[in-house]
Amino acid sequence: MESGRRMGRLDGKVIVLSAAAQGIGRACAIAFCKEGATVIATDINEEKLKELQLYSGIQIKVLDVTRKEQIEKLAKEIERVDVLFNCAGFVHHGTILDCEDKDWEFTMNLNVGSMYMMIRAFLPKMLAEKSGHIINMSSVASSIKGVVNRCVYSTSKAAVIGLTKSVAADFIEQGIKCNCVCPGTVDTPSLRDRIQAQPNPEQALQDFLGRQRSGRMATAEEVAHLCVYLASDESAYVTGREFVIDGGWSL
Ligand code: NAD
Repeated sequence: MESGRRMGRLDGKVIVLSAAAQGIGRACAIAFCKEGATVIATDINEEKLKELQLYSGIQIKVLDVTRKEQIEKLAKEIERVDVLFNCAGFVHHGTILDCEDKDWEFTMNLNVGSMYMMIRAFLPKMLAEKSGHIINMSSVASSIKGVVNRCVYSTSKAAVIGLTKSVAADFIEQGIKCNCVCPGTVDTPSLRDRIQAQPNPEQALQDFLGRQRSGRMATAEEVAHLCVYLASDESAYVTGREFVIDGGWSL
């Protein structure tokens, strides 16, 4: 006889993720928790991170993913990790001519360098278990689609795809999977901030919507559904792939 109790798709898994305080990372932290995972939710924004404390399955940790010593300290504190989700990233607006050296360094460092450091810190724990899944946040604005005013951002997100495939190829035999998620436009606080920063925010919003062939942006929860699948054993035979979730924008 069935107990009727719903099993979580992530029961028993320990998941570490970055950029969990808002947007896609926050939605994923909550979705992972609701599916039964023990979630270690990290971010630099302690204030917003604290809002996740109402979920008993979520532990919060302040972590700046550009700081190697902080990453190594966190890795020492955590005994086992089943899933590492590298979500942190920053959108620089502009062409190559608008991108100063400091913008280039900051973006490449946060969007790709952080993943390099996080994977190096957490992969050995997965290798010890002969099992683990790394999910990296990329974007359709990458090697998938040329998008105006996203020069260094797209460069960094294309590098994330390369990093993902490389890690996947190197560690298949050791039980490690590595995939990346490539959203189109997702309605998140930082997207709203970028719209507000434009000279005509109403027009900027219409421009964002106008480029969506589906007529709307994605919600962070829709991206989280995909991430739950990738974090779960349902995706056990999937590695080295970029998962586009863009409402058909890149078609
Ligand atoms: P967001 O920009 O709203 O929030 C980002 C979070 O990252 C914030 O909580 C912030 O405090 C945190 N953060 C910033 N710097 C950090 C650092 N050094 N260390 C740790 N945390 C830091 O989030 P979002 O819009 O959901 O974007 C999340 C990811 O998804 C990013 O990598 C972004 O490039 C990617 N993405 C977003 C969209 C979109 O349309 N929103 C589309 C494609 C890809």
